[in-house]
Amino acid sequence: MGIFYYSYLSYKAESAGTELVKVDPRNTSQMCSNCGSIVKKTLSERVHECPYCGFVADRDYNAAVNIHRVGMEQPFEPVEPRPLHHISVVQVLAMIAGKPRPRGAG
Ligand SMILES: [Zn+2]
Repeated sequence: MGIFYYSYLSYKAESAGTELVKVDPRNTSQMCSNCGSIVKKTLSERVHECPYCGFVADRDYNAAVNIHRVGMEQPFEPVEPRPLHHISVVQVLAMIAGKPRPRGAG
């Protein structure tokens, strides 16, 4: 992990013709990916169920959609300069598509 992991993801992103986008993960699992409302949930809750719009999805799927959107549109707030959680757009797209993580593709 750490610097090596970041470099690896940068490399993977570049080789895929895209660029690595750092996303603050704090709200991605809480935010409804359908309507943007904050839906508080504990770590043990595996399903996102939005009381505002009725959207129901797997917690990780909902978070992946949020990460994808934030990464594409750029976050409203500056991401903290210290390393948080790095995920490549390619990985998010793979998660959304429900495909297994690419292994040894590079
Ligand atoms: Zn919603």
